Amino acid sequence: MLVLGIESSCDETGIALYDTQKGLLAHALHSQVAMHEAYGGVVPELASRDHIRRAIPLLEQCFAAAGVEHAAIDAIAYTQGPGLAGALLVGASVACSLGLALGKPVLGVHHLEGHLLSPLLATNASYAPPRFPFVALLVSGGHTQLMRVDGVGQYALLGDTLDDAAGEAFDKSAKLLGLGYPGGPAISRMAEFGDPLAYKLPRPMLHSKDLNFSFSGLKTAVLTLVKNHPANICEQDKANIARAFVDAMVEVLVAKCIAALKQTGLNRLVIAGGVGANAQLRSALNAAADKKRFQVFYPELEFCTDNGAMIAFAGALRLQRDPAAATHDYAFNVRPRWPLNELT
Ligand code: ATP
Ligand code: MG
Ligand code: FE
Repeated sequence: MLVLGIESSCDETGIALYDTQKGLLAHALHSQVAMHEAYGGVVPELASRDHIRRAIPLLEQCFAAAGVEHAAIDAIAYTQGPGLAGALLVGASVACSLGLALGKPVLGVHHLEGHLLSPLLATNASYAPPRFPFVALLVSGGHTQLMRVDGVGQYALLGDTLDDAAGEAFDKSAKLLGLGYPGGPAISRMAEFGDPLAYKLPRPMLHSKDLNFSFSGLKTAVLTLVKNHPANICEQDKANIARAFVDAMVEVLVAKCIAALKQTGLNRLVIAGGVGANAQLRSALNAAADKKRFQVFYPELEFCTDNGAMIAFAGALRLQRDPAAATHDYAFNVRPRWPLNELT
């Protein structure tokens, strides 16, 4: 079965072709980061317009790279939500128009399910993806959740953030340090040069005895440190603050993952979402996995942040379970707000 995937929930246009026998045939991505950078964050209207410009050329690029005809696809999976309504509508309308033109069925995919299943997508033979069940930590720009995953569509929420998402805290703290948008990768690079002993920031909810998170206080602590510095805060101070932020964030995320493994009695941990690309988080999790004897799995770096491959892949897994999940009803709707637990 060959599935075309279309992602357009936020500021990345992603297209991919996934074959259930041969794996990922091709994928293409355009990030709008440079366009939104000037505004310090995503401007929804600009995002929608850019998706319109990019979707078809990327689609053609993908088919050409895979060397397959349009008519060879069996279904089209598109991100139905959650995300920006206007941006989602672009992907949905491209998917449904193409479906109508080619007579192929379409399937709306949950963006977070795409992230969640991305560590199962193996594109090289040396990677052995995790078996179900596992604990998943979803750490993205809009979400920070711990889940027990028993199979495709079987997700039990174990913990959630009470306020900011991890990626959001990275981005907001980076902005406070003047590091641009999106700040996750920038603050992470800067932290490498920071003195770990210069500042100590709070570890929010580290001892809360549940699996929930809270990161808005951490961002406020960064704000306080920045304010305590003169206007011309030096690079070393920025690096020290970045280091304190990353250390606090990583310690909390790792501790909650270990607690979730303990609570569920599972020994496989899967990381998904953009913050899963973070080098400090990966090395701390790897060290914990060695010490506590659990296995940890990550998506490939390019599939941590938004991409079309995870949507094609999640769509294909859904269709393998239930071929009727895709329909010839092209009257699409999008779901800007769509809690994962409403997914059946
Ligand atoms: P959601 O999936 O919740 O709707 P999103 O799609 O915007 O949100 P992702 O694309 O999964 O989120 O991830 C983007 C986030 O990941 C941004 O907040 C970005 O700063 C963060 N991020 C990306 N790379 C890194 C990194 N190396 N270190 C820390 N954070 C990172
Ligand atoms: Mg993005
Ligand atoms: Fe995402």
